[in-house]
Formats: sequence, structure tokens, C-alpha cells
Amino acid sequence: MASESKSQNPHGAFDAHHPPARELIDTCVHCGFCLPACPTYALWGQEMDSPRGRIYLMKLALDGHVQMNEKWVSHFDSCLGCVACMPACPSGVDYGKLIEATRAQIERNYRRPAAEKLHRKLLFATFTKPARLNLLRWPLLAYQKTGLQFVLRALGLFKLLPKSIEAMDALLPKVRHVEAVPTITPATGGKRRRVGLLLGCVQRTFFSHVNAATLRVLAAEGCEVIAPPEQTCCGALFVHAGEETQAQELARKTIDAFEQANVETIVINAAGCGSNVKEYGHLLRDDPVYAQRAKNFSAKCRDISELLAELPARAERKPLNVRVAFHDSCHLQHAQGVRAQPRSLLAQIPGLQLAEIPEAPICCGSAGIYNLVQPQAANELGDRKAQLIAPLQPDVVATGNPGCLLQLQASLDRAGHHIPVVHTIQLLDASLRALPLDSLR
Ligand code: SF4
Ligand code: SF4
Repeated sequence: MASESKSQNPHGAFDAHHPPARELIDTCVHCGFCLPACPTYALWGQEMDSPRGRIYLMKLALDGHVQMNEKWVSHFDSCLGCVACMPACPSGVDYGKLIEATRAQIERNYRRPAAEKLHRKLLFATFTKPARLNLLRWPLLAYQKTGLQFVLRALGLFKLLPKSIEAMDALLPKVRHVEAVPTITPATGGKRRRVGLLLGCVQRTFFSHVNAATLRVLAAEGCEVIAPPEQTCCGALFVHAGEETQAQELARKTIDAFEQANVETIVINAAGCGSNVKEYGHLLRDDPVYAQRAKNFSAKCRDISELLAELPARAERKPLNVRVAFHDSCHLQHAQGVRAQPRSLLAQIPGLQLAEIPEAPICCGSAGIYNLVQPQAANELGDRKAQLIAPLQPDVVATGNPGCLLQLQASLDRAGHHIPVVHTIQLLDASLRALPLDSLR
């Protein structure tokens, strides 16, 4: 990348509001151990699309040697934010904080082309509003049930449209009946814990069966579950895309909703939301009213698999004779460090056979809105994952994030392997209720 004249601004190309921290940038010793872990480096082999290259680009901008131009921004747009580079780094570079700060700077200071801006706005205006997502259910149901989707796909019409439209169609969830989530679900047997359930946006609209399965398992394991009806989006998509102000506003609302519920633990069954709410303390660090409350909130948050691993199993697991390929969501394995817990939950089910997917640390290409704004790279990563899953010949693929679930299903279908992809908790729920695998489709 060509250097440009050094600016007088002490933060270089960045503004004064939390530029990527120099002390974090300087912890990178350029060793390159993170390169093999990085999906975009694996795809393109370009230094500037690796963690080391991106950190170098941040440093150049901080020192005022480059401006936020299209080329510079493109290397950060192509980053999945999967943070697979963090566990691979022997120097402990906190790339997650660096990319979050850089993205917020880009959204404040870089003028995106109008069409791109509009596309992003539309995505946020839809995916972070459960009420709007709900309105989409009926037209989507008609689109799927009348056979229109099948015909358009069979005719190959999407190949003539922009890649982002084709990606959106491929990723559409199957519209199902919405399973209601009561505000209070009592524990079965003696109560062991009072927990709150974060409902998610896409999760509550298109995966209400996953929330229902989560409730059943929690109740069977002795948890009273509170699902505050006033909870909004947690802000995960905004944080991951650098839209800091909106993310903070939603974080405050989420904290308010759960403080009133007075719960010991807050359970999350969508890894992208989980990694976000666990970082509220950082997101609201400058807010005198919410900073401490945010830290307290984050300290209570657990992925569903983490909570169940903390509670010795009480409900009887009945046999489920299936071969399961487990996919680690990046926001679970890298951002939250949760790898063992979902596997141990699955291992509790008699008859279940676990198959490990090679290259587990590599992202499937979902990554928030990445597969909608960077469809080509996302498809390449999805295709790669499908090729690794197919030889395992699983009956089902399990994962802990709705975004990964949709991405894997679309990738497997595109490759002609119609293997169902489900949430991990659905398998445990099926085992507790002695349901066959077919009931999950
Ligand atoms: S977050 Fe993921 S895509 Fe981005 S640099 Fe790190 S490993 Fe690569
Ligand atoms: S592994 Fe860590 S220290 Fe080494 S280049 Fe990557 S980020 Fe820098």
C-alpha cells in the first residue's frame, strides 16, 4: 500500500474517540503464527488480508502514514471478525479490541459509496428489529410454500442478479410456526437456579423452536427461566460492524430489561449475541451510569452449553442413535473460549456418535452480516466447510449459532449434500423427550 504524507493529527487517520490502542498494536511482534489460522489469508494468501497485515495497516493509519481510503478500508471489510487469530497468537495480541475500534473509526470517518451505505442500513434496519423480521414471515412463507422460490432457483434467475441478492435467497431460513416463549417458565422438580433467557432477533423470529427447546432443557434441569418480554436486540450486529452508538443504546436497554428480572445467570443460545453481551463492560466503559452495571451484567452471561456444564445432569438422557458432526461457531470457540462444553453435552446422549470436522478453527463464512456483504468470500469458506463435512457422512450437523446454522445449511445444499443442520440444544431436547431425528427437520 502506497504511503501518503504524514498528518499532524496525533491519532493519524483516526479521530480521538478510542482509536485502536497503540499499546495493543505494539504487542504484535510480527511473528506470523496467526497467519495459518486466518480464513482470509487461507483464501487469498495476501499479507494485507492477514491479522499481521491488518495490524500493520492500523499502525500506518495511527502514525498518519495512510488515509482511510477505499483500498485500506477493503482489508478491514474483508476481515470476518472471527478472532481465530487470537488463540493462535503467542504474544496475546487482542485483535478483537483492535478490529472493533478500527471498524467504529471507519463507520464514523469513512464515506462509503451510497449503494453500499443503503445496503448496510437496510440490513441493520431489518435484522436488529424482531417486529420487522416478524412482518417478513408471511411474504417469505408464501414465497417458500407456493413453490416460487423453487422455480426461481431452478431457472437460475438469481445468477443474473447481484451476488448479495443470491446470497440472501440462499440463506433464507425455512419459515415455521412460531413457538411462544412465556415470560416465566417454572423449573421441573426442585429449583436449582433462576436464569434469564436472551431471545435474540433472528432466533426468536425464525428459530423460535430453538428457544422453545432451550426452555424445555433448562426447566428439566431445574432452572426457572425468565424471558423479559421488553428485551430488544442485544446490539451484536452493530458492534461487529462498527456501529458503536446504536450498539451502546441497545446494550443499555438489554441491561435495563434483565436487571428488572433479577436473575442469577443470563443464558444465551446464539454465539454471536453471547460474545457481544459478555463484552458490555467494555462497550459501556465511558458511561458513568452504566459502566459498572454493564460489568455486572456481563459477569452473569453464559452460553447455554456453559450453564448446563455447570449443572450436574439431572434429567434422563434417552438414546439418540445419530452421527453428529459438530461445528464450532467462531463466536463460541474463539471469542468465548467455549469448545469443550457443547461436546460434553453431546457426549451425555446415549447412542450419539460425535464426528470432528477438520479445520475446526476456520470460520464457515457466516460472521454476522459478512455473508450478506461479502458473499463471494463467504461462499468460498462455506464451500470449503461443506467439503470437509460431507466425507464424515453425518446424519446431522450441530452448531450453537443461528448464523452458522443458515450458512452451513446453504453451503451443504449448494454442494448437493442435504444434511440437516440444527442447534446443539435441539439434540439434547430430542434426547430428553425421546424424539427421533426426523422431528427436528
Ligand atoms: S478476525 Fe478472522 S479474518 Fe480477521 S484477521 Fe483475525 S483470523 Fe483473520
Ligand atoms: S501471532 Fe500475534 S504477534 Fe505474531 S504476527 Fe500474529 S498478531 Fe502479531
